Amino acid sequence: MRNVGSFITVLSNGNVLSPQNLGQRDLLLAGGMIADITDRISPCAQIHVERIDVEGCYVVPGFIDAHVHLIGAGGEGGVTSRTPELMLGQLIRAGVTTVVGCLGVDGTSRHLTALLAKARALEEEGITSHIYTGAYQVPTPTITGSVRNDLILIDKVIGCGEIAISDHRSSQPTKEEMQKLAAEARLGGILSGKAGVLHLHVGNGERRLAMLFDIVRETEIPISQLTPTHLNRNTALLDEGIRFGRAGGMIDITTSLEPTPDNERVISASEAVHYCIAAGVPIENITMSSDANGSMPVFDEAGRLRSLRVAGIDSLHGALKRVAAEGLPLSDALKLITWNPSKALRLQPRKGTLAVGSDADIVVLDDRLDIQYVFAKGQCLMERGRLRARSAFEHEA
Ligand code: ZN
Repeated sequence: MRNVGSFITVLSNGNVLSPQNLGQRDLLLAGGMIADITDRISPCAQIHVERIDVEGCYVVPGFIDAHVHLIGAGGEGGVTSRTPELMLGQLIRAGVTTVVGCLGVDGTSRHLTALLAKARALEEEGITSHIYTGAYQVPTPTITGSVRNDLILIDKVIGCGEIAISDHRSSQPTKEEMQKLAAEARLGGILSGKAGVLHLHVGNGERRLAMLFDIVRETEIPISQLTPTHLNRNTALLDEGIRFGRAGGMIDITTSLEPTPDNERVISASEAVHYCIAAGVPIENITMSSDANGSMPVFDEAGRLRSLRVAGIDSLHGALKRVAAEGLPLSDALKLITWNPSKALRLQPRKGTLAVGSDADIVVLDDRLDIQYVFAKGQCLMERGRLRARSAFEHEA
């Protein structure tokens, strides 16, 4: 249901992290944007303004989750293991106000047109949504017949992905195929004024990021065009990610990947972030995403499925809390899910920051970093920890 709140809101006395620490400030939200950030915004008798006192809280940019299976994914355990669709309330509870949807391993029974419709629904319901065209396999599915045309002709398409490499579930694409795909994404991005990234699912295979280093070395395609994810699968892969990040690439850590008894090689998102920073990757080159509603299968040495679970979108906020608790200043931790993905996806200056003129996408965190308020394009979608908006047919929790 569409939420109709106040058109003008003042968030007063919060500690504003833009994500830079601006200190205690008032924010004026009007027309879906941030109209002012200043010491004190005085009441105006002529205009109805909703004033919310958030003293003692952090006021931060809405989170950007750049890898979410909005219509579900998975299926590695057969058709009963296809994962479910994500609903608005789940995104809001997780503080996510900008989301990028993608297909996954199953490019047969999942369709980009369904993903596009879902993204449009979420936009109508109040948040900001984009999608990647494609799925794991190469040649990859598209809506119009080519990656380039999808980028140019379809508003919500901002890149191509998730294309699988170094994984037994990939289509085993050749380097030449990947070069062509990266070129398509780049040209489509240039001609549409979008990021046009090639977003890569990297599996447990020993080739790891070798193909990406080859593409950067052998073609004119800049490293910023390639955004590999799931790099915290194992230490050897993360070490290659560190090399990629130090060379100027953006590296993405998956927050729903957690070490489990049957998969001890995984490095938690927080540990991976600290490890990358200690190894010299600029924090500006690291992002985190949830992989929400993707399946998290574990295969044995022979390639047999051992276990399967569904990734949660709340892992993004959980990882933020943990990264901060483990010693990263909150303003830096926030960059991983606000400023940095916004830069990688060319969503600045409207997204990923709190500045005059940027969209009023805001999360208010209490002193324990729990989410109290969520605003998306100026609308209050969560108030004192309670949802004010849900998708149609979404059950009240
Ligand atoms: Zn993936």
